[in-house]
Amino acid sequence: MLKRIARLFMKEGSDLSDDRSPLPSDTAPTIRSTSENAAPKKTGKSGRALTGACLCGTIRYRCRAEPAAFINCHCKDCQRCTGSTHAPVLMVPSGSVEIEQGETHYFENYGTDGTFVRRHFCPGCGSQMFTELPDQDEWMFIKVGSIDDVSSLSPTMTAWTDSAPHFSHIPDHIPAFPKNPPA
Ligand SMILES: [Zn+2]
Ligand SMILES: [Zn+2]
Repeated sequence: MLKRIARLFMKEGSDLSDDRSPLPSDTAPTIRSTSENAAPKKTGKSGRALTGACLCGTIRYRCRAEPAAFINCHCKDCQRCTGSTHAPVLMVPSGSVEIEQGETHYFENYGTDGTFVRRHFCPGCGSQMFTELPDQDEWMFIKVGSIDDVSSLSPTMTAWTDSAPHFSHIPDHIPAFPKNPPA
């Protein structure tokens, strides 16, 4: 499913594979602190990395990869954990987020479709920041609301419209799927 999303939405000429880093061999969180990362920082095609923070400022991070997709997810779990109608998330390669300050905690459960999900948040203020899928090591997700400057970002698809609240706005100019995108 995630590969298909990447195929659908990666921009022409985008080369995410160059931004990939070796992944841990176990299922430990792939989010790394800057001190653990000796590799030179890369940025997305825009020429600068995305940066973000939690509400209280304890957690700061940088993402050096170009996002593969911007998904508005209306699954019930995203509604519950964000307290909102949906979670806007950027899909980026696993390991491309570097924690520059602070340390996240995480909550794990199985999503509606049975996917094992690890949701990272700030232990100080509770802000939701990242999601990993420990059973696959290719992609992870950044909560768009935590990103400092979103002026260059626009949603590329809508997911889980089946469980979207009736007062949610579902744009008609981007693909929309009743649940996860088809594999
Ligand atoms: Zn915080
Ligand atoms: Zn969701």
